[in-house]
Amino acid sequence: MHTQRIVIKVGSHVLTEDGAIAKARILALVELIAELKAHTYEVILVSSGAVAAGHTLLPLDRSNVANRQALAAIGQPLLLKMYQEKFEKFGHLCSQVLLSADVFESDKHTAHAKVAIDTLLENSVVPIINENDTVSIEELVFGDNDRLSAHVAHYFDAQMLVILSDIDAFYDKDPNRYDDAKRRAVVTAISKEELEAEHTPNNEFATGGIVTKLQSADFLMKHGRQMLLASGFDLSDVKAFLVDGEHVGGTLFIS
Ligand code: ADP
Repeated sequence: MHTQRIVIKVGSHVLTEDGAIAKARILALVELIAELKAHTYEVILVSSGAVAAGHTLLPLDRSNVANRQALAAIGQPLLLKMYQEKFEKFGHLCSQVLLSADVFESDKHTAHAKVAIDTLLENSVVPIINENDTVSIEELVFGDNDRLSAHVAHYFDAQMLVILSDIDAFYDKDPNRYDDAKRRAVVTAISKEELEAEHTPNNEFATGGIVTKLQSADFLMKHGRQMLLASGFDLSDVKAFLVDGEHVGGTLFIS
């Protein structure tokens, strides 16, 4: 069977509940990845959640960027420990890869990173990528790994990026503010206005909002790749799409 490489990005809002890491959701996500691997997918995971995990150990004020950097440093090993425990249940190994956006500005560094990612995947190990927040705070301040994950998908040669969000799709307007918002099932182009709209993070941990997701989709479409935006709370839409080939919910960005 033909192997498809995909990147799955999961945001802080999905991974946390009442300020703590939502272990049941991590388990559901890991179960999904195990199922995808059984269907010959190669899966790279981009996971946020380090700041929230750190905050459960040391409740520093998160409004301050330096504190968020420190919390990410505290929380990253805890987050990986949780992933390791869950992947073990399914007989899989996972690994930690910390990147900063500027890795992709250097061909040499990108090539080095890709060799490591390829080698992990060849050995059936799941790379879990996050921004290295102590040296690079771009996504910590704004983006919540949305843009990083688009770069990961492109430069590590994945056909598709799946963004698992607190919202189940892209709508014609913000569904949390307008009851009559309609889901866009397939998007083939994104307008300049949509790409430059006001940033709308929905949650104290989320720093991205829909705009960084659209920017990621735009980048990937321009590079001949696809993006699926789907719910991270209920994984049935993403499962239907990737395992059964049925587009029930979520938004597919494809040019
Ligand atoms: P996450 O943390 O899950 O990655 P965010 O909370 O940062 O996601 O961004 C998703 C939020 O963007 C939604 O909850 C929603 O309130 C807001 N949003 C604004 N406009 C739209 C739109 N047109 N379609 C979908 N969501 C939108």
